[in-house]
Amino acid sequence: MFGSRRSPKRGPWAPTNPEARYSSSVALVVVDLQNDFADPAGSLSVKGGAEIVPLVNVEIERAIAAGAAVLYTQDWHPASTPHFAKDGGTWPVHCVQETWGAELHPGLAVRGPVVRKGSNGEDGYSGFSMRDADGFPRPTALDQTIARGGATRLVICGLATDYCVKATALDGIRLGYETAVLLDAIRPVDLQPGDGLAAIDEMAGAGIALVGECSVTS
Ligand SMILES: [Zn+2]
Repeated sequence: MFGSRRSPKRGPWAPTNPEARYSSSVALVVVDLQNDFADPAGSLSVKGGAEIVPLVNVEIERAIAAGAAVLYTQDWHPASTPHFAKDGGTWPVHCVQETWGAELHPGLAVRGPVVRKGSNGEDGYSGFSMRDADGFPRPTALDQTIARGGATRLVICGLATDYCVKATALDGIRLGYETAVLLDAIRPVDLQPGDGLAAIDEMAGAGIALVGECSVTS
């Protein structure tokens, strides 16, 4: 499923310039901006998560104005999944289907399709692919949905830097998209101090363009 070829690029891309960041060949992907991650009362609340919502909304308006697609990923777990610590995984229960925690943040402007992940108990972080119950990678609808709109470039923001943002951006590169991440509009979990910074280094090393200031404070 990885490694598909993209159509030729239309000249160089300058994602660091907000005026040149978006066009019809770009898709903005807003990762997991949901209550359990972004709200201070969420079960897996990311420090500063709510702060990025207005910044993300500015990007969404920029993208729409320039003819870019805007897509959203949504962690969407059943009540039991190997993703959760109580079922043998890593994480507290979060983003359970049809609960408040799984809803997109109420301040977020929703202007495009929402791609759900983890719906059938898959485990993983990327918006593009998760592992099924047998450990095999299974694609979500994200790549197809982006490709249908004709985008060859991705701009990624959302939560959290060191998990779903990183995994989605790395898959974007593997899938052949030119990929940029907006440093102002991401925040890390930092399960271990420095995880967010390490994730940023890893993304840079993979050829992902890093745009703006790093807001990691730990
Ligand atoms: Zn999850």
